[in-house]
Formats: sequence, structure tokens, C-alpha cells
Amino acid sequence: MLTSQEQLRYGRQIMLKDIGESGQLKLQSASILIVGMGGLGCPVSLYLASAGIGKLIVCDGDVVESTNLQRQVLFNENDIGNNKAEVAQEKLSQQNSFIDIEGIDEMFNDELAEELLPEVDLVIDCTDNLATRYLMNRYCHQFQVPLIIGAATSLSGQTMLIRTHEGHACYQCLFPESDQQVEENCQTLGILGPILAIVAGMQALTAIKLLTGNPVNDSQLQLFDGLSQTWQTIGLQRQANCQVCG
Ligand SMILES: [Zn+2]
Repeated sequence: MLTSQEQLRYGRQIMLKDIGESGQLKLQSASILIVGMGGLGCPVSLYLASAGIGKLIVCDGDVVESTNLQRQVLFNENDIGNNKAEVAQEKLSQQNSFIDIEGIDEMFNDELAEELLPEVDLVIDCTDNLATRYLMNRYCHQFQVPLIIGAATSLSGQTMLIRTHEGHACYQCLFPESDQQVEENCQTLGILGPILAIVAGMQALTAIKLLTGNPVNDSQLQLFDGLSQTWQTIGLQRQANCQVCG
């Protein structure tokens, strides 16, 4: 049962027939791990905290720098030099005191994956690091946890929901890991803030729909082009010889 305070607070989403009181209760009983509190992690965590996700774990070992402020909307000038996950925990707790928020001042690694994945219902990839994305992909497959990938550089972005336990393709099926992969990120290619907002909005929307039992887009890579302001959807097939899920 929702309390009268919760009814009031989340009223505008409870009134949606696709959410309702039962959907709100599902959100409140859910745990989500957000890996990376940069340009994607900031808006994703804000929207999910606002929506009343019961427990958010945010993980990032970096400190806030002045170059982050152009797009990492949770941080301001007073936060420079402080750990992103700890600052995020404080700000998100101010946003919503009804929920539980844990900040982890560490880069995501094998140890954290083994400790945290059995506890969470969903992982959201908000990193700009390929090695970490492959690590999440492997562990989410192993622990049968859904993973929502997001990435954005310059004027384009992409997102993909992965549920290998439901028979869908994984990140490795799409982009097999190799030594030759060139790391391209905001540092090398630049990024415009609103592109991150768009991709983060898609990630948060997918998370809410998934947790409330609404239809989601499996086995699809969704690409956004900021110049034409259009989305393109590419259907994916699980690869029988995939090193992770095959
Ligand atoms: Zn695969």
C-alpha cells in the first residue's frame, strides 16, 4: 500500500494507466545499480530518484572537474574536487528522502559486480569506458540481470536493452570484444549536453517500463543522430558463437 504522502508525491505518474498504484509499488520495491555518474548517470539517476525507485546504488571513482559542468547536471562549482558518487548520493537524497541511495566511491570492477549484482533488479550503464561495458555485459549475463546500455559522443547517441536470460542478444553479440577497438569518448570526440539528456531519458524510460511490466524494446540497438534529430532502430540477433551468451 502506498502512503498518502506517496500517493500525493507520485500522483502524476500513478494516474497513468500503464503505471498505476501497482506500478508505483513495483518501482518502490526495485533496486537499480547505475555505473558511472557522468553526463548520462546524472540525468538517469535524477529521473529515477524522482520516480521513486526504492534503492539506487550509484558507482563512480572519479572526482568532479570543471570540464564536467558543461553537461553533468547534478554537479555545480562547489562540488569540484569531490567524489562524484558521494556528491550524487547527497544531492539525490535531497531530491527524494523517501528512497534509499548508496554512493560507491570506486570504479566498477569484478569484485563490486559479484557483490552488487545479486542484490539488484537492473543495471544501467552510464560509463564512457568500453572495458567496463564489457565487464557489465558479462556479469549481467552471469547473474541474469537486465542491463541498459547508453553511450553518447559528439552529436550522436545509442541505447540498448540487454536481457540474455530472456533469449536476447548481448553487447558482445553486437560488438565482439577485440584488442583493436579504439576507445572513443567525450574526451576525444567532444559532446553536446542535450544529446546526453536524450539518451539518458531513453534509459530512464526503459528502466521504468521494464520494472512496471510494460513492453520494452529487446534485441534492438537504438541510434540517435543529433544533426537530423532522428532515431534509427537496428534489430539484433543473438549470436550462437558469442563468447558471453552463446
Ligand atoms: Zn552475446
